[in-house]
Amino acid sequence: MLTTGPVPVYPEVLKALGSPVLYDYHPTFRQFYADVIEKLRVAFRSSIAPVIMQGEAILGIEAAAAALIGGNDVVLNLVSGVYGKGFESWAGRYGKEVVELAVPFDEIIDPQAVREALHRRPDISVVSLCHHDTPSGTLNPLNEIGATVAEHGAYLIVDAVSSFGGLDAHPQAAHVDIFITSPSKCLGSTPGLSLISVSERGWEKIERNADAPRGSFLSLAAWKDASIPGRTFPVTPSIAEIYALDAALDRYALEGPENVWARHAETAAIARAGLLELGVTLWPKREAWCAPTATAFKIPGGYTDVELRDRLLNEHGILLSLGRGDTTGKVLRIAHMGASAEPEFARKTITALSSILSRSTD
Ligand SMILES: *Cc1c(COP(=O)(O)O)cnc(C)c1O
Repeated sequence: MLTTGPVPVYPEVLKALGSPVLYDYHPTFRQFYADVIEKLRVAFRSSIAPVIMQGEAILGIEAAAAALIGGNDVVLNLVSGVYGKGFESWAGRYGKEVVELAVPFDEIIDPQAVREALHRRPDISVVSLCHHDTPSGTLNPLNEIGATVAEHGAYLIVDAVSSFGGLDAHPQAAHVDIFITSPSKCLGSTPGLSLISVSERGWEKIERNADAPRGSFLSLAAWKDASIPGRTFPVTPSIAEIYALDAALDRYALEGPENVWARHAETAAIARAGLLELGVTLWPKREAWCAPTATAFKIPGGYTDVELRDRLLNEHGILLSLGRGDTTGKVLRIAHMGASAEPEFARKTITALSSILSRSTD
């Protein structure tokens, strides 16, 4: 299952899912939850306690828009793919105006273009970016864009769902005000949670925003400090998924983040080199723009995406992801996320593709 999420979970995660489900106010669970928040804070390399929302990462992204974007905000939405474009509907729902800076979905956002957009519209107060727009397999320059936005003074919301844990991407290093990720991509755990880091000034803006949801499942503010034993949870946490996340964070720390990132990068490099050797074209216009956590390639002639996907699955037992939105029908994607980021899996995929493609030219 070399899919772009959910991914095959690590064995430690699977084992943790079998732990007894405790009452959420059981003192043991309260302490456990506080410990998981602390482990996540360390993984995020942040000085501020993160929050966990109880729903797959789209919940966290929508909640971030609802919490941070107020009726006076002008939002610069950076669009290099399907997820970046999708943020527009939430930004538009909560903000005064959405300004779009878009590139074709096989390119990445240029920090200089962001600087110019901010210069043209000094009233832009919030910027949103999808770090790795998974349906395109392209990686945007997060740290450079973050520095540019910080210089301007705007707030920055980043969807790091399919990048965090697979490469060096952290909220404070990139000046991000709300950074959202999921356990079900590079951390190699289950879908069902949103992992969110909010900056100090981000929390202040949320508290000032009278329109930010309160008393709602969409309320990010409701989860602030919920990990402190003695506080109440806004809703019952997904107990088993918290166990799974704990195991995934332990595994990440034990292997060492730098080693995990190197494993992702090496796997992706093998996949790209193998595809190019087969004469298959990468979807991103430049190889340097390819994400180390997913490799998107164009469908070789004579096949549809579904035909090639099905042959890989039925004849070789390898499942890749199709494109999504505007990349549907144009690409197949090999994910390198968590347990699937193994050089051996990239090699097997290339061998399988090679056998299918060579037979079709006979
Ligand atoms: C997987 C993913 C999400 C979460 O989307 P789901 O549909 O909930 O899986 C958000 N952003 C990106 C970039 C993703 O890859």
